[in-house]
Amino acid sequence: MNTPTTLLLLLTALLLSACKAGPAGNTSPGDTPRPSFLLTDARIHTGNPDQPTASAMAIREGRIVAVGDADALADAHGDLPVRSAAGNTVIPGLIDAHAHLRNLAQMRLSADLVGTGSIAEIIQRLQAHEKNLAPGEWLRGRGWDQNDWPTPAFPTRQDLDAAFPDRPVWLERIDGHAMWANTAAIRAASDALLQDAEAPPGGQLFRLEDGTASGVFIDDAEHLVGSAVPPFSPEALDRGLDMALKEANRYGLTGVHEAGVDTSDINRFIRFADEGRLTVRVHAMVEPGPAFERYCSDHYSREDDLISIRSVKIYLDGALGSRGAALMQEYSDDPGNHGLMRTAPADYADLVDRALACGYQMNTHAIGDSANRLLLDTYEAAGISPEGRHRNEHAQILALEDIDRFAKLGIIASMQPTHATSDMYWAEDRLGAHRIKGAYAWRSLLDAGAHLAFGSDFPVEQVNPMLGIHSALTRQDDQLWPEGGWYPEERLERDEVLHAFTLGAAWSGFQDQVTGSLEPGKWADFVVLDRDIMQVAPPSILDTRVEATFLAGEAVHGALSP
Ligand SMILES: [Zn+2]
Repeated sequence: MNTPTTLLLLLTALLLSACKAGPAGNTSPGDTPRPSFLLTDARIHTGNPDQPTASAMAIREGRIVAVGDADALADAHGDLPVRSAAGNTVIPGLIDAHAHLRNLAQMRLSADLVGTGSIAEIIQRLQAHEKNLAPGEWLRGRGWDQNDWPTPAFPTRQDLDAAFPDRPVWLERIDGHAMWANTAAIRAASDALLQDAEAPPGGQLFRLEDGTASGVFIDDAEHLVGSAVPPFSPEALDRGLDMALKEANRYGLTGVHEAGVDTSDINRFIRFADEGRLTVRVHAMVEPGPAFERYCSDHYSREDDLISIRSVKIYLDGALGSRGAALMQEYSDDPGNHGLMRTAPADYADLVDRALACGYQMNTHAIGDSANRLLLDTYEAAGISPEGRHRNEHAQILALEDIDRFAKLGIIASMQPTHATSDMYWAEDRLGAHRIKGAYAWRSLLDAGAHLAFGSDFPVEQVNPMLGIHSALTRQDDQLWPEGGWYPEERLERDEVLHAFTLGAAWSGFQDQVTGSLEPGKWADFVVLDRDIMQVAPPSILDTRVEATFLAGEAVHGALSP
């Protein structure tokens, strides 16, 4: 064989083997071996019912090989370097079964309006954020909630125009289901829009007394202006995702189920994983469209288990806060309004059939009892099997007679405990005394045999899972209101809550064989806490500090004390 050909073949072989031994192989990116050590002096809650507690854990090349006490493990694993947890508590890495890293990333590139108590305070924060922007660049923000203002009415474009006469301003409501624009933003979309805007089906807009658009656009009406908003640059989005991942790790998350991705999100996650920058495992739900077609029956997984793509996200309705949740009966505080079904029943049934044909796990967003009923009926009519681990994202307001159907059909209730404690101030106004009994009904679902997976829906809620754990245990907010808890019969026990945030979440993402509990054979995904959340008084859980977060044995936040 001629030398150039041999050289070429050799190079090709080298390249191929380099690809194989890269992130998908037994080593982490950059070919540094994954960590091996013996973790000792730990109060470990394993999440494994056969061995619920332990004090030591042997880790080789990023995987757990033994769990027990230090003396017992020392014999077989005496060769490993010892790392002490200094008496701290260790739990499995926390998994957020429904969240939006993409939106958190963009939020970190936008003005943070969460917790603002008035329009004046919003203007202040926007002015501070504007200092980083180029002239003419859109000023984006997220997290306003008119329910927290002295007058809880929707704002108008005029509220923003005095401070921002020329720069387009585009502000997302806390639930992501309403947008607030100033006049410059509406004009940037179209001059005619101010006068002649008509809401499309599935959307709504408001008008001022003179008939012009008020500046608030609900659900599918958001695109009227949103289609004109320039996208973030790829570099900015990378920066935002780095920030979002760090934030997730800081709060003890090692897994996130990303509720809605398109192909560019997927490509970014894959590139981050290849570059060693993806510090949580991502179970990504593709949106209908090109990503759906691309990954239909060509599901994506990796040997490092960092990304799985085998599930689809479908929206049925909106959210309760903006009265977009589809209800069977009218809103108790808005006669005649039944909310918005965003996907027609026939289209939904068609999408479900196509998703099943692609072998996708289905993850349908359903908030109102009408949307939830449609989901259950459609899944049932499509003949789903429990092995498909199909999910109901939110399962928020259920007709009482529908609760038993989750276990019967094998549908996972993917729920967010902090939604209950964020909505409890006004949810009963919207729903009335009867319907509220089927809302945020974790205990009823669990007792009826349903499988629970918990998350936060960040950035709709805060990233910190300790807030969700506290909500699920107490049905109280962080001020411990109301005394005794809001509909406390729906509270859960600690092991049930931890399960829903770890192994239950892993199960709902087909990752229960590789993470979610601390057992031999699984990745060493674990969190070191400064207190024992299975023991301390519930209010103390809110102040829990995450000392360190480990993914496949690698510290992605903090460190063990030397
Ligand atoms: Zn969501």
